Amino acid sequence: MERTLSIVKPDGVRQGNIGDVVSTFEKNGLKVAAMKMIHMDKKEAEGFYAVHRERPFFGSLTDFMSSGPCVVMVLEGENAIARNRELMGATNPANAAPGTLRKRFATSVEQNVVHGSDAPETAAYEIGYFFNQLEIVNK
Ligand code: ADP
Ligand code: MG
Repeated sequence: MERTLSIVKPDGVRQGNIGDVVSTFEKNGLKVAAMKMIHMDKKEAEGFYAVHRERPFFGSLTDFMSSGPCVVMVLEGENAIARNRELMGATNPANAAPGTLRKRFATSVEQNVVHGSDAPETAAYEIGYFFNQLEIVNK
């Protein structure tokens, strides 16, 4: 059993994609173990994406991520990290496989509807960024 962090980004919330995203996880073997809606400020978005601080799109990305509410979730399941990444599709929706969340709903490489942790270490950091132990259910 593995845990990963998922986010429905501000574009996905604005477009009304929360239900479709959660339903896709539930139909594909990922259980929601924690969930809440938050609105990050610029500093909180910068902290979350600190690993990308040298990238040219960092300013724009953190403006976008603080532009409205997000739904943050802990997903649990076998190979949850890889399975979530598969359901999300490629970062750029132009390259995302048919049926993936980004192919279905994303409008650009930046406004791509969902975030998912990419490794066990980043999953642990990202889950801890938004949730404490008491907010994550155990079974
Ligand atoms: P992923 O979200 O697929 O793990 P990255 O970790 O590489 O992708 O990038 C984090 C986020 O930064 C992306 O989901 C996207 O919102 C944004 N992003 C990535 N590449 C670009 C780019 N070339 N231009 C604008 N935004 C980008
Ligand atoms: Mg990433």
